[in-house]
Amino acid sequence: MGFNEQVLSCRKCSELADTRQNVVLGEGAIPCDILFLGEAPGGREDSTGEPFQGAAGQILRAIMHTAGISALSSHILNVLKCRPPNNRNPLEEELENCRPFLVHQLKVIQPKTIVAMGRYAQAFVLQQEADKIHVLKNAGKTADYNGIPVVLTFHPSYLSRSSSQQVEAAFKIHLQLAKRLSQGV
Ligand code: URA
Repeated sequence: MGFNEQVLSCRKCSELADTRQNVVLGEGAIPCDILFLGEAPGGREDSTGEPFQGAAGQILRAIMHTAGISALSSHILNVLKCRPPNNRNPLEEELENCRPFLVHQLKVIQPKTIVAMGRYAQAFVLQQEADKIHVLKNAGKTADYNGIPVVLTFHPSYLSRSSSQQVEAAFKIHLQLAKRLSQGV
Protein backbone atom coordinates (compact mmCIF):
# COMPACT_ATOMS: atom_id res chain seq x y z
CA MET A 1 0.00 0.00 0.00
CA GLY A 2 1.30 3.50 -0.85
CA PHE A 3 1.78 6.14 1.85
CA ASN A 4 -1.34 8.19 1.01
CA GLU A 5 -3.54 5.09 0.88
CA GLN A 6 -2.15 3.98 4.21
CA VAL A 7 -3.01 7.31 5.89
CA LEU A 8 -6.39 7.61 4.22
CA SER A 9 -7.43 4.16 5.41
CA CYS A 10 -5.84 4.43 8.89
CA ARG A 11 -8.14 3.37 11.77
CA LYS A 12 -5.62 3.38 14.63
CA CYS A 13 -7.67 6.03 16.49
CA SER A 14 -11.08 4.37 16.26
CA GLU A 15 -13.04 7.36 17.61
CA LEU A 16 -11.50 9.71 15.04
CA ALA A 17 -11.88 7.18 12.23
CA ASP A 18 -15.56 6.66 13.11
CA THR A 19 -16.41 10.37 13.20
CA ARG A 20 -14.27 11.85 10.39
CA GLN A 21 -15.49 12.80 6.95
CA ASN A 22 -12.01 13.16 5.49
CA VAL A 23 -8.41 12.50 6.42
CA VAL A 24 -6.49 15.75 5.91
CA LEU A 25 -3.02 14.97 4.56
CA GLY A 26 -1.88 18.57 4.01
CA GLU A 27 -1.01 20.53 0.90
CA GLY A 28 1.76 22.49 -0.73
CA ALA A 29 5.09 22.41 -2.50
CA ILE A 30 7.47 19.42 -2.41
CA PRO A 31 10.25 20.20 -1.61
CA CYS A 32 9.32 23.43 0.15
CA ASP A 33 10.99 26.48 1.67
CA ILE A 34 8.71 26.83 4.70
CA LEU A 35 6.47 24.20 6.23
CA PHE A 36 3.68 25.40 8.53
CA LEU A 37 2.76 22.82 11.13
CA GLY A 38 -0.60 23.14 12.88
CA GLU A 39 -2.63 20.99 15.25
CA ALA A 40 -5.49 19.04 13.70
CA PRO A 41 -8.31 19.51 11.20
CA GLY A 42 -11.39 21.39 12.39
CA GLY A 43 -14.90 21.22 10.94
CA ARG A 44 -14.15 22.88 7.60
CA GLU A 45 -10.97 20.95 7.06
CA ASP A 46 -12.79 17.70 7.88
CA SER A 47 -15.50 18.41 5.33
CA THR A 48 -13.15 19.64 2.56
CA GLY A 49 -10.11 17.42 3.18
CA GLU A 50 -7.84 20.48 3.03
CA PRO A 51 -5.87 22.11 5.87
CA PHE A 52 -6.52 25.56 7.36
CA GLN A 53 -9.77 26.42 5.58
CA GLY A 54 -11.41 28.38 8.43
CA ALA A 55 -10.69 31.61 10.33
CA ALA A 56 -7.22 30.49 11.48
CA GLY A 57 -6.29 29.69 7.88
CA GLN A 58 -7.44 33.10 6.68
CA ILE A 59 -5.24 34.85 9.23
CA LEU A 60 -2.31 32.55 8.52
CA ARG A 61 -2.47 33.19 4.77
CA ALA A 62 -2.93 36.95 5.23
CA ILE A 63 0.15 37.22 7.45
CA MET A 64 2.17 34.92 5.18
CA HIS A 65 1.36 37.40 2.43
CA THR A 66 2.45 40.46 4.45
CA ALA A 67 5.63 38.61 5.51
CA GLY A 68 6.42 37.98 1.82
CA ILE A 69 5.98 34.20 1.97
CA SER A 70 4.48 32.63 -1.13
CA ALA A 71 2.01 29.77 -0.78
CA LEU A 72 3.67 28.32 -3.90
CA SER A 73 6.91 27.61 -2.03
CA SER A 74 5.25 26.57 1.26
CA HIS A 75 3.53 23.53 2.66
CA ILE A 76 0.79 23.32 5.32
CA LEU A 77 0.31 20.25 7.49
CA ASN A 78 -1.14 19.20 10.81
CA VAL A 79 0.19 17.01 13.58
CA LEU A 80 -3.06 14.99 13.51
CA LYS A 81 -4.60 14.04 10.18
CA CYS A 82 -8.14 13.48 11.53
CA ARG A 83 -10.49 15.84 13.33
CA PRO A 84 -10.97 15.25 17.04
CA PRO A 85 -14.75 15.34 17.75
CA ASN A 86 -15.95 18.85 18.66
CA ASN A 87 -12.38 20.07 18.12
CA ARG A 88 -11.26 18.70 21.47
CA ASN A 89 -7.53 18.58 22.17
CA PRO A 90 -5.63 15.64 20.67
CA LEU A 91 -4.95 12.79 23.11
CA GLU A 92 -1.40 11.56 23.79
CA GLU A 93 -2.30 8.19 22.23
CA GLU A 94 -3.61 9.88 19.07
CA LEU A 95 -0.43 11.95 18.78
CA GLU A 96 1.63 8.74 19.09
CA ASN A 97 -0.49 6.96 16.47
CA CYS A 98 -0.15 9.79 13.95
CA ARG A 99 3.52 10.65 14.62
CA PRO A 100 5.03 8.18 12.08
CA PHE A 101 2.96 9.73 9.29
CA LEU A 102 4.28 13.21 10.01
CA VAL A 103 7.86 11.94 10.40
CA HIS A 104 7.53 10.34 6.95
CA GLN A 105 5.96 13.46 5.40
CA LEU A 106 8.80 15.66 6.66
CA LYS A 107 11.38 13.30 5.13
CA VAL A 108 9.59 13.50 1.78
CA ILE A 109 8.79 17.22 1.82
CA GLN A 110 12.30 18.28 2.94
CA PRO A 111 11.38 21.74 4.23
CA LYS A 112 14.17 24.29 4.58
CA THR A 113 12.44 25.67 7.69
CA ILE A 114 9.53 24.58 9.87
CA VAL A 115 7.11 26.95 11.63
CA ALA A 116 5.69 25.05 14.62
CA MET A 117 2.37 26.72 15.45
CA GLY A 118 0.87 26.07 18.87
CA ARG A 119 1.26 23.52 21.64
CA TYR A 120 1.03 20.29 19.64
CA ALA A 121 3.33 21.38 16.81
CA GLN A 122 5.88 22.67 19.33
CA ALA A 123 5.65 19.39 21.28
CA PHE A 124 6.28 17.41 18.08
CA VAL A 125 9.42 19.27 17.00
CA LEU A 126 10.82 19.53 20.54
CA GLN A 127 9.93 15.88 21.22
CA GLN A 128 8.30 16.80 24.52
CA GLU A 129 4.93 16.04 26.04
CA ALA A 130 2.31 18.56 25.02
CA ASP A 131 1.34 19.50 28.58
CA LYS A 132 4.97 20.47 29.36
CA ILE A 133 5.08 23.05 26.57
CA HIS A 134 5.04 26.80 27.39
CA VAL A 135 3.64 27.97 24.08
CA LEU A 136 3.90 31.71 24.68
CA LYS A 137 7.30 31.52 26.37
CA ASN A 138 8.64 29.55 23.40
CA ALA A 139 7.10 31.83 20.78
CA GLY A 140 9.79 33.53 18.71
CA LYS A 141 12.52 31.07 19.73
CA THR A 142 14.26 28.76 17.30
CA ALA A 143 14.95 25.04 17.59
CA ASP A 144 16.23 22.20 15.45
CA TYR A 145 14.35 19.20 14.08
CA ASN A 146 16.76 16.66 12.57
CA GLY A 147 18.97 19.44 11.20
CA ILE A 148 16.05 21.58 9.97
CA PRO A 149 15.74 25.03 11.60
CA VAL A 150 12.42 25.53 13.37
CA VAL A 151 10.64 28.70 14.47
CA LEU A 152 8.33 28.17 17.44
CA THR A 153 5.23 30.30 17.53
CA PHE A 154 1.61 30.31 18.65
CA HIS A 155 -1.30 28.91 16.74
CA PRO A 156 -3.03 31.34 14.33
CA SER A 157 -6.36 30.65 16.09
CA TYR A 158 -4.83 32.47 19.07
CA LEU A 159 -4.54 35.50 16.80
CA SER A 160 -8.17 35.27 15.74
CA ARG A 161 -9.25 34.94 19.39
CA SER A 162 -7.07 37.72 20.79
CA SER A 163 -7.49 40.13 17.85
CA SER A 164 -4.53 42.05 19.29
CA GLN A 165 -2.32 44.00 16.91
CA GLN A 166 0.70 43.19 19.07
CA VAL A 167 0.12 39.44 18.79
CA GLU A 168 -0.35 39.79 15.04
CA ALA A 169 2.85 41.84 14.74
CA ALA A 170 4.76 39.20 16.75
CA PHE A 171 3.43 36.41 14.50
CA LYS A 172 4.57 38.36 11.44
CA ILE A 173 8.06 38.75 12.95
CA HIS A 174 8.17 34.98 13.55
CA LEU A 175 7.26 34.33 9.91
CA GLN A 176 9.88 36.80 8.70
CA LEU A 177 12.46 34.98 10.84
CA ALA A 178 11.38 31.68 9.23
CA LYS A 179 11.78 33.25 5.81
CA ARG A 180 15.33 34.39 6.61
CA LEU A 181 16.23 30.95 7.98
CA SER A 182 14.85 29.28 4.84
CA GLN A 183 17.18 31.52 2.81
CA GLY A 184 20.12 30.58 5.00
CA VAL A 185 20.43 34.18 6.27
N1 URA B 1 -6.30 24.44 12.95
C1 URA B 1 -5.28 23.60 12.70
O1 URA B 1 -4.41 23.39 13.52
N2 URA B 1 -5.25 23.01 11.52
C2 URA B 1 -6.15 23.21 10.58
O2 URA B 1 -6.02 22.61 9.52
C3 URA B 1 -7.20 24.10 10.87
C4 URA B 1 -7.26 24.71 12.06
